[in-house]
Amino acid sequence: MSTTYDVIVIGSGHNGLVCGAYLAKSGLKTLVLERREIVGGAAVTEEFTPGFRASRFSYVMSLLHPRVIRDLELDTFGLEVLPANDLFCPLGGDDYIVFSDDMRKTQAEFARFSRHDAEIYPQFARYLEESAAVVRQLLFETPVDPVRRSWRDFKKSASLLWRHRRIGDRAYRLVDLLTQSAVDYLSAWFENDTIKSVLAYYASIGTFAGPRSPGTAYVIMHHLMGEHQGAGGWGFVRGGMGAITAAIARSGARFGMEIVTQAPVAEVLVSAGRVTGVRTADGRDFSARAVASNAAATTLFRRLIAPEHLPAELLREIDTFRTFSTAFKMNVAAHQPPRYRAFDAARQGFRYPTYVHIAPGIDYLERAYDDAKYGWYSRKPFVTPVVPTIVDDSLAPAGKHVINIFGGHAPYKLRDGASWADEKRNLTKAVLDVIDEMAPGFSGQVIEAETLVAPDLEAIVGLPQGHIFHGELSADQLFWQRPAPHWADYRTPITGLHQCGSSTHPGGGVSGIPGHNAAREIAKDWKRLQAPRAL
Ligand SMILES: Cc1cc2nc3c(=O)[nH]c(=O)nc-3n(C[C@H](O)[C@H](O)[C@H](O)COP(=O)(O)OP(=O)(O)OC[C@H]3O[C@@H](n4cnc5c(N)ncnc54)[C@H](O)[C@@H]3O)c2cc1C
Repeated sequence: MSTTYDVIVIGSGHNGLVCGAYLAKSGLKTLVLERREIVGGAAVTEEFTPGFRASRFSYVMSLLHPRVIRDLELDTFGLEVLPANDLFCPLGGDDYIVFSDDMRKTQAEFARFSRHDAEIYPQFARYLEESAAVVRQLLFETPVDPVRRSWRDFKKSASLLWRHRRIGDRAYRLVDLLTQSAVDYLSAWFENDTIKSVLAYYASIGTFAGPRSPGTAYVIMHHLMGEHQGAGGWGFVRGGMGAITAAIARSGARFGMEIVTQAPVAEVLVSAGRVTGVRTADGRDFSARAVASNAAATTLFRRLIAPEHLPAELLREIDTFRTFSTAFKMNVAAHQPPRYRAFDAARQGFRYPTYVHIAPGIDYLERAYDDAKYGWYSRKPFVTPVVPTIVDDSLAPAGKHVINIFGGHAPYKLRDGASWADEKRNLTKAVLDVIDEMAPGFSGQVIEAETLVAPDLEAIVGLPQGHIFHGELSADQLFWQRPAPHWADYRTPITGLHQCGSSTHPGGGVSGIPGHNAAREIAKDWKRLQAPRAL
């Protein structure tokens, strides 16, 4: 095998693969090095107990950008999305609410709680869609550096403003999204607490915040700006989320992209301020003119590069980049999926609720956060149980089911020195109790359950402090500050070393956009990087 490449990508998360595939497609000799034994990062399908395979970490798709799907022809490499059109939210007893991608259906559901909210919903949906359009316009932008005093940077900032001049007054909507709490944002439209909580739920996904925390309105948008079919744009992928990364890997392979697994990079090699390659943990050196890191920013800057190569202020920024996570994930093998007391197929008009949110009310979400704020896991966590095996028979033995349960909050670190080794079984019980309350007897159907808390996500996927997005999606960590001011343009202080993962704009979720944008910036720099190195 060759040890000299044009580009080396550290990590085969979906963004690393997207970045590598675009660069290979542009003709560069590209190698992806992955520390795990499989590719995919947080988008993998793995057997977690004999006979049962699950989307072990990320579990539903919405954000994967149509441009990435098209450019890399992922459909022809096996990507098949199965939209989940109706989100079912049991509220306790026989009560429930459905949030659907069918506007009329959602309105009819909302009308059971508030006529006012049902009537205003189409207007809100339009407003949200217009705001999403603004956010979408910025997804493919390379963040500018508005404070750097150089003619080049000034030109880039001016050009960005000019290109997006038609955003006009809608820019203020961005300010609202970035600064308001989910509750304040939604209360400007809706009066009913249940309806608000259906939407505010999205603000809690993956964030260490409650729906009343400032800035969480943006997280709703982040989860609802996907452009696919399904309630809120979400759906399953046949074969699990690993089918996405397998398709990207195949697409890249067609252009010669090579992947080596079980090859953790231990060091980025630097000479005279320029990247020269990488060294793996087993001492192999690979050289390249460009290196792109899909590993989280904290990993790249704090573990893979000797500090003398980096400015102190960047290291300070990276040390304060917030990655503390309270998300957890359970993968359950079961004889039967949850049978919700409130679900009636005839009344609801669909066969089974494959996609469920359990968090009846704003206070429920906020209290779940309160527990985590003080260093403990939620006594009553909010949970998303989804059952892909209803629509995909490739994951479990015939007649059996896989239930992915995502939820919060379960802090990376527990108070008073308590350990997850002792507490994990209690968290598992708390989650199953919440589901049993809505779907009596479900826990009795469980064959095997894998519970993953933040330290597990850190150990297995390499996510610092287990953060599912590589870092919080808050105003201070977005766009030109993701992951750090002055270094948000996918570059680093080391010439030829780029960042291509979720620590960069526009952040986490299986979108492929950071990988796409980083590849574009590397391609822009390529001519300069080919210049002979100084002796
Ligand atoms: C539990 C969980 C649930 C989620 N649910 C969803 C969901 O349903 N839908 C959704 O859209 N998003 C979801 N997300 C978020 C989404 O999965 C991530 O934001 C996204 O997959 C990150 O992709 P990435 O390519 O940027 O990085 P990652 O997937 O984190 O990949 C980074 C890769 O780099 C490798 N690596 C790290 N260090 C090294 C090294 N030194 N040498 C070699 N390789 C290295 C890692 O092993 C990993 O493979 C979820 C995430 C988690 C953890």
